Amino acid sequence: MPHLLPTTLAGSLPKPSWLAPPNTLWAPWKLEGDDLAEGKRDAVRLVLRDQERAGIDIVTDGEQTRRHFVTTFIEALDGVDFANRRTVRIRNRYDADVPVVTGPVARRHPVFVEDAAFLRGATDRRVKFTLPGPMTMVDTLFDAHYRSREKLAFAFAEILNAEAREIAATGVDVIQFDEPAFNVYFDEVRDWGVAALERAALGLPCTTAVHICYGYGIEANIQWKKTLGSEWRQYEQTFPLLARSTIQQVSLECANSRVPIDLIGLLAGKDVLVGAIDVASDRVETPEDVAATIRAALRHVPAERLYPCTNCGMVPLSRETARRKLVALGAGAALVRAELGAG
Ligand code: ZN
Repeated sequence: MPHLLPTTLAGSLPKPSWLAPPNTLWAPWKLEGDDLAEGKRDAVRLVLRDQERAGIDIVTDGEQTRRHFVTTFIEALDGVDFANRRTVRIRNRYDADVPVVTGPVARRHPVFVEDAAFLRGATDRRVKFTLPGPMTMVDTLFDAHYRSREKLAFAFAEILNAEAREIAATGVDVIQFDEPAFNVYFDEVRDWGVAALERAALGLPCTTAVHICYGYGIEANIQWKKTLGSEWRQYEQTFPLLARSTIQQVSLECANSRVPIDLIGLLAGKDVLVGAIDVASDRVETPEDVAATIRAALRHVPAERLYPCTNCGMVPLSRETARRKLVALGAGAALVRAELGAG
């Protein structure tokens, strides 16, 4: 019987320095060929061990096999030209040179299915596998073919669904779509974003989740957060839409943020993955810090639906900081479990 307040994480974890340079987004691989394939698997074994030792109940592969949570998936698809880039604004926040959609997008072969099968076989814990969400994928590209963010999103949603069905067949327990773009384009989320997400998750036999956050602790995001005022009410627009959707779990940012905690009450009927670990700070939370966040969330979410989690991916942190934050997450959840008489 699984216990109350099962802990999990948003997704990514730092990679070992022998696999990729630390503290770097989009870090290049240090190995190649068969050595790289073996190195990725060894890195997955290590992050699983750290999560298990920290008392994390629903574990991930820490995205050890990917350079980037969106781009590594898109690189495997037809219809996107990575050689000739165009400049676009990402989430209205910063400019980036991005690949160009030059024709119909298509998935000719599985992308992460082997990785999911390896993860499933490497631990006895429940496992979660993460994929980018369709709107966030659209937001990282220049579209010279569909000329419609909605049409491109639905094309990606069909591709994601085919991939997710094969991943689910490996026996993973949860598939999560990462949609940080849901925190920016509210009209599009309402008009087609949630529908595209539901298309991506259509018919999956496992639990489905969406992760919506305020991003890594990179400078562009820190500057953006300064413009959001004293209360961050972005979730107020998306949560009622998600509450009516087919998606079962919502992973959100909470710790050390200006998100009013009562907004999570808008997710009635959903499992709520409450961010109790700040990924934008090197300060390691105490178990009591984590417990305080969980207790605050429990005023708005039934204990049966609450999953203590991280705010976002931990890939920008050092390995040691990330490992200690996972330990704090597990210990903080255990404190509250004991208070509830459910230890
Ligand atoms: Zn995130």
